[in-house]
Amino acid sequence: MDISIVVPLFNEDESLPHLAEWIDRVMNEHGLSYEVIMVDDGSKDNSWQVIEDLRAKNPCYKGVKFRRNYGKSAALNVGFGHAQGDVVITMDADLQDSPDEVPELYRMIKEEGYDLVSGWKKKRYDSKLAKNIPSKFFNWTTRKMSGIKLHDFNCGLKAYKRDVVKSIEVYGEMHRYIPVIAKWAGFSKIGEKVVQHRKREFGVTKFGLNRFVNGYLDLMSIMFMSKFGKQPMHFFGLVGSVSFLMGFIALVVVCVLRLIGRIALTNSVWFYLSMLFVILGAMLFLAGFLGELICRNSSTRNNYLIEKELM
Ligand code: UDP
Ligand code: MG
Repeated sequence: MDISIVVPLFNEDESLPHLAEWIDRVMNEHGLSYEVIMVDDGSKDNSWQVIEDLRAKNPCYKGVKFRRNYGKSAALNVGFGHAQGDVVITMDADLQDSPDEVPELYRMIKEEGYDLVSGWKKKRYDSKLAKNIPSKFFNWTTRKMSGIKLHDFNCGLKAYKRDVVKSIEVYGEMHRYIPVIAKWAGFSKIGEKVVQHRKREFGVTKFGLNRFVNGYLDLMSIMFMSKFGKQPMHFFGLVGSVSFLMGFIALVVVCVLRLIGRIALTNSVWFYLSMLFVILGAMLFLAGFLGELICRNSSTRNNYLIEKELM
C-alpha cells in the first residue's frame, strides 16, 4: 500500500463526507493505493456514524473510536499504530488541509528521501490575534530550542516514512513537536512544503489559548527526556554538584569570617547561602539517584531504536 492517511477528529461530522470525497478523488486521479484511518477522539456528534457509512461504501476506510476525548496526540498515536502504507500522511478533519497536497508530499518522501515533510501554512486563514501571532512566537522558540529549521511545526498536514511513525510515541499535547521527537529518534532528514490552507467551513476550533502553556511544558519534557531520560543522574548530579560546591565555598567563607572574629554566625548572609546550597545540592543528588532507580526498573530501559539488523 502506498499511503495511509491518518485523520484525528473530534466533533467533525459535517466536514467528514466532503473530506472523504476529496481524498478519494485525488487518490484515484493519481492511481495511488491508500487507506484512511479515522480516529474519532470521543466525538459527541454523529462523526462515528459517518465513519461507519464511509466504511460500508469503501473498505479503504478504517475507524477507531475512543470512549472519551483524549486529545489529538493520542488519536495520532493510535492511528500511527495501525498505519500500513509506505508513507503516512496526517491531516486535520476540518477541511483546512487540502488533500491535493498529498501526491506531492508522497513524492518528496519516496523520491527525495525525506524522513518527514511538514506542511507550512504560509498564508493562513485563522484569526490573527488568537492564532497567527502567537504561532509565530511559538515556532521561533521551538526552532531555537530544537535546531530544526521549520516555519510551521504545528501544521496538521505532514508526511512521514512509515519507519518514523512506528518509532515515535506522542501523548499529552506533543503532536506539536513531532518533528522534534522524530529528530531525537534519529530521523534527521526533515523537509518542508508550502501548503494551501483554507478557512474552517464547519464547526469550531478545538484549541484555546491554554495550548501555549501546555505546549511549552511539553517541549521541556521532550528536550529533557531525550537528553537525560535514560540517565537522569547526568542532569541532577551535575546541577547538584554545582550547588554543593557553591554551598561549600560559602561555608568556607563563613568559617573564615567567624575565625577572624568578624561576625556572629547567623548574621552573615554567607551562612544562609551555605545552608541553602548544601541542602539543595543534596536534594538534587537524591532526585538523581531516585531517577536512576526508576529507570533501572523500567521495562523499556533497554529499548533502542534499531535501524537495520544483520543476524
Ligand atoms: N482534534 C482531535 N482531538 C481534540 C482536538 C482536536 O482529534 O481533542 C482534531 C480536530 O477534530 C481536527 C484537528 O484535531 O481534525 C485540528 O483541530 P482544530 O482544527 O480545532 O485546530 P486548529 O486548526 O484550530 O488549530
Ligand atoms: Mg483546524
